[in-house]
Amino acid sequence: MAFIKINKQNFFHNLNQFALKSGSKKNIAIVLKDNAYGHGLELMAQLAQEFGLTQAVVRNHVEAKIIKPYFNQILILGDEAFVDKQCSFTLNSLKDIVKAKQGATVELKVDTGMHRNGVAMSELETALKHIQEKGLILKGVMTHNRSADELSSELFWQTKNFNEVKQRVTAFGFTDIRFHAYNSASALRLTCSNKDLIRLGIGAYGYNELPDVYKTLELKPVLSLWAKKVATRKLKKGERVGYGGQFIAPKNMTISTYDLGYGDGWMRSNSMKPFVTAEGLPMLGRVSMDYIILESEKEEVCIMNDALSAGRQVQTISYEILTQLHTDIERVLI
Ligand SMILES: *Cc1c(COP(=O)(O)O)cnc(C)c1O
Repeated sequence: MAFIKINKQNFFHNLNQFALKSGSKKNIAIVLKDNAYGHGLELMAQLAQEFGLTQAVVRNHVEAKIIKPYFNQILILGDEAFVDKQCSFTLNSLKDIVKAKQGATVELKVDTGMHRNGVAMSELETALKHIQEKGLILKGVMTHNRSADELSSELFWQTKNFNEVKQRVTAFGFTDIRFHAYNSASALRLTCSNKDLIRLGIGAYGYNELPDVYKTLELKPVLSLWAKKVATRKLKKGERVGYGGQFIAPKNMTISTYDLGYGDGWMRSNSMKPFVTAEGLPMLGRVSMDYIILESEKEEVCIMNDALSAGRQVQTISYEILTQLHTDIERVLI
């Protein structure tokens, strides 16, 4: 079966870049949702702990349970709040406050302009009042930026809105609240001088989806995807390969079958315009469920070692290339 190599040195390099920029490892919560962006949840939790991070962010409590041994504090982005000393739960709406169990530790998400999750700014005081009445422990107030990785000034408009939120939360009487708005792109673009927590996702894994004009940190991809050879055969000029016989050999050639396919989370759609592997080999014909074909005789081939450029080949983003890689592909630490 195909396998994944995880480069520990590159992961530590990326974490270090953000720790240096923000001034402390304490300001970073590693985002491990969706199987740690396809890298492997528990493995990346272990490595983040080894680096010295104490906080993590996941999507639900099932993920949180797996990584509890590695962190002091875990923020859950989308699950119903109940009492768990180690976890805080995001409140994405007024309804989430109603559903939360008394005594739960929560962080209120405020919609400062993305209009996806969070209570409206006009509902802020109502939400704070309900949180108090319900007996929830408010640990943090957060927001999410919609355009931090675009060439636009919207990030500054949302930051201004969030500054207003901070003032209103304090004016309401809550002290000792942590505020956080940084994702990777915001942390790359802003100075991070206010020491707010960074919810660090894609940047930790080595990607910067910002337009090139933004000169920021140098990051290194952590994951590479590899496939192993199943069989080699000779193909005569004019013979066709794979389902539909879509690829027609332009010459006599030696080809091999490798053990990666759309069943592993590699897109079949690539076959319409052949995906070119990290080693410069175009995939020949259609991608099968468990196999691809390349003009190579090597025992192992690197399919992809840079999800940003791989994503550009198929008109998507690094996040999607990474998160769709199946959990049962073996992750090997190097
Ligand atoms: C996924 C997510 C992040 C991390 O975003 P990156 O762009 O990967 O750094 C941060 N905050 C929230 C609320 C998220 O959902």
